[in-house]
Amino acid sequence: MVVIIFLGPPGSGKGTQAKLLVERYGFRYIATGDIFRWHMNNNTELGKMIREYLEKGELVPDNITIRVVEQEIDRVRGGNLILDGFPRTLEQAQKLDEILDKIGKKVDLVIYLRVSKDEAVKRLLARGRHDDQPQTIARRFDEYKIKTRPIIEYYKSKKLLVEVNGEQTIEDVHKDIVHILKNMGFLD
Ligand code: AMP
Repeated sequence: MVVIIFLGPPGSGKGTQAKLLVERYGFRYIATGDIFRWHMNNNTELGKMIREYLEKGELVPDNITIRVVEQEIDRVRGGNLILDGFPRTLEQAQKLDEILDKIGKKVDLVIYLRVSKDEAVKRLLARGRHDDQPQTIARRFDEYKIKTRPIIEYYKSKKLLVEVNGEQTIEDVHKDIVHILKNMGFLD
């Protein structure tokens, strides 16, 4: 089992790229944003707890997020795994190491999708998801800058980070990622 993390600012294409690997190479997939939106739309207890954060563009508290991911990792055990949108804080990154360690796994690779803020905002406004309003977008970028960016250094120091130019076409970004995964022996 290989564990790959997709990291990058809102609008960098994490979900798009992760889903292509799922479709074409059968990776398993955990996207915390998708899980949170499902709970919100189905008005579950968890959905009620997290709605406010998603609507404001703030990060859901670490304890809630980590609990959700721990359950999901347990569920998808086996097979290659992509994490999209998690971890987003240093505490989440450290907890992830502990969770994986308990089942004899580790983070194998972190793919950092680099895009400029201008390009990312343009994409988000074009996508038009419920939380893609100018004010919410601004908040999500602030959260990214303050809480998520430090984990780039965390993974860099562990020599796990690989940077990909996220400003290319979807297919070209995908090609770069597949190339990296093949070079590292994670794909045949
Ligand atoms: P995403 O679909 O990844 O853009 O996430 C949408 C929203 O879900 C974010 O703006 C946060 O409110 C919440 N969220 C997703 N992943 C996390 C995470 N790892 N930690 C905290 N909040 C998260």
